[in-house]
Amino acid sequence: MSDNSVRRVLIVGGGTAGWMCAAALSNAFRDTDMAVELAETEAIGTVGVGEATRPHIRHFNAGLGIDEADFIRETRATFKLAIEFCNWNRIGDSYLHPLGEYGMPAAEIEFHHLWASFVEDLNASALDAYSLPIQMARANRFAPPHTDPNSLLSIYSYAYQFDAGRYARYLRTYAEARGVTRTEGRIQSVARNGANGHIASVRLEDGRVLAADFFVDCSGFSGLLIEKTLKAGCEDWTDWLPCDQALAVPCEGSKEITPYTRATAREAGWQWRIPLQHRIGNGYVYSSNHISDDEAAATLLANLDGKPLADPRCLRFVTDRRKQAWVKNCVALGLSSGFLEPLESTSIHLIQSGIAKLLQMFPSTAFEQADIDRFKARTKEEFERVRDFIILHYNATTRDDTPFWDHCRTMPVPPGLAEKYRIFEGYGRIFRENDESVNDTSWFAVMIGQGLRPRAFDPVAECLSEDETRRRLAQIRQAMQASSDHMPTHADFIANNCAAEMEPLS
Ligand SMILES: Cc1cc2nc3c(=O)[nH]c(=O)nc-3n(C[C@H](O)[C@H](O)[C@H](O)COP(=O)(O)OP(=O)(O)OC[C@H]3O[C@@H](n4cnc5c(N)ncnc54)[C@H](O)[C@@H]3O)c2cc1C
Repeated sequence: MSDNSVRRVLIVGGGTAGWMCAAALSNAFRDTDMAVELAETEAIGTVGVGEATRPHIRHFNAGLGIDEADFIRETRATFKLAIEFCNWNRIGDSYLHPLGEYGMPAAEIEFHHLWASFVEDLNASALDAYSLPIQMARANRFAPPHTDPNSLLSIYSYAYQFDAGRYARYLRTYAEARGVTRTEGRIQSVARNGANGHIASVRLEDGRVLAADFFVDCSGFSGLLIEKTLKAGCEDWTDWLPCDQALAVPCEGSKEITPYTRATAREAGWQWRIPLQHRIGNGYVYSSNHISDDEAAATLLANLDGKPLADPRCLRFVTDRRKQAWVKNCVALGLSSGFLEPLESTSIHLIQSGIAKLLQMFPSTAFEQADIDRFKARTKEEFERVRDFIILHYNATTRDDTPFWDHCRTMPVPPGLAEKYRIFEGYGRIFRENDESVNDTSWFAVMIGQGLRPRAFDPVAECLSEDETRRRLAQIRQAMQASSDHMPTHADFIANNCAAEMEPLS
């Protein structure tokens, strides 16, 4: 280690963000003598309702060398191939946003342009036939994608639906086995270095002091270091995303485990349904200005698949972004860096991508401002792109049945989203900006699902003759149907490969 290497890192907070960060640092710096410590208190607890994920989490786990079947058993996970959106454009509508490509590109022409040039009535159900993960999801089937990139069976991906509390515990075991030390106790105050304003140490209620060179704030909504101490500031996004509360409740599941998450739009927000091996996670995310807590609870409880296993738990939040995700010697990850509602399961993904950026720009004690600025700029951009994608679901709607939907339908949208609309409405084109984490297929699926239509198809699709296009589309449809028909059911796949040993439900 050089003279100005960081020798001691303190992670404040032991929720999903804290333990993901601890696991990643303990793995990346395993051959150095940098000490990684984590402080948390069970008295405050964690949010821990992050149960649906995006496919990237598989790379995170693989990077840590985690065995997939073991992880699935321990976190009671199921596989996720898509998100089903019900009632978002009109009451009674439903479409699936798949985790994987539609069709296959032909002669460099993106598949969706071929499809749009060919199909007269552009609608989500006509598109479903060209998505293998949607075919699998609708038939309740699952098998992992093929590793041969030339195979049709390689063109989809998958994520997990899991018990987030168990995931944090799983990573804690991993990190502690690699030398991370955990301190239990409530942090009462923070001391700063008088010369440069850096954080020097935190003091616990019982008087213990934990000092470090570098701090990672994973303290959740409170932003103990990044906001309360370093005053990074917040950008409030509630005008665009007015939901500010959630009620969460688990219920009994059934034998048929769906390999997808469902998001059903309701009067003043939406309800999630996330099937795990041992139960179903449910919640109503709503705007407290548009519905009372009692009404929200009644709606949630009236729309469960089985008996509730607990009383609904209330979580309050503000949709915002920390203006500066890194200040001096402190970086924020997880809820302390901002919050976007879980409609597209992006929070854990944003933690993962924050960790990836942190490892790319890991500081020395010189804390190079250029790196810090780059980290902040990339984080800002990423949050804004995800925000715009979530707003799309609310804004591109014909719903006018409640004041909540009237507000969402008629609100002015951020400039980045307005530009996506303008470009799409021309020839159905979608451009992925600066490696944004939401890919073109996702934008396309949700735009079509929400009822947006281009005025004309992309002239590039005419490079292929009508006969050739027809032939290819028919071939893809048949191949997808046949592939899905041969797969095991999702429940059988889990039972045969990674079923958890269940304790009786309490
Ligand atoms: C309703 C809802 C549903 C969600 N669903 C999803 C989903 O489906 N998918 C998804 O990806 N994400 C989801 N999320 C987000 C996800 O839950 C969070 O991103 C994730 O849990 C990370 O939380 P965290 O670790 O940042 O904070 P927390 O879980 O709040 O952890 C904070 C930690 O800081 C500690 N702490 C705080 N103050 C102190 C102190 N003074 N002293 C010591 N320790 C302290 C606490 O003890 C705790 O350990 C959802 C969030 C909400 C609110």
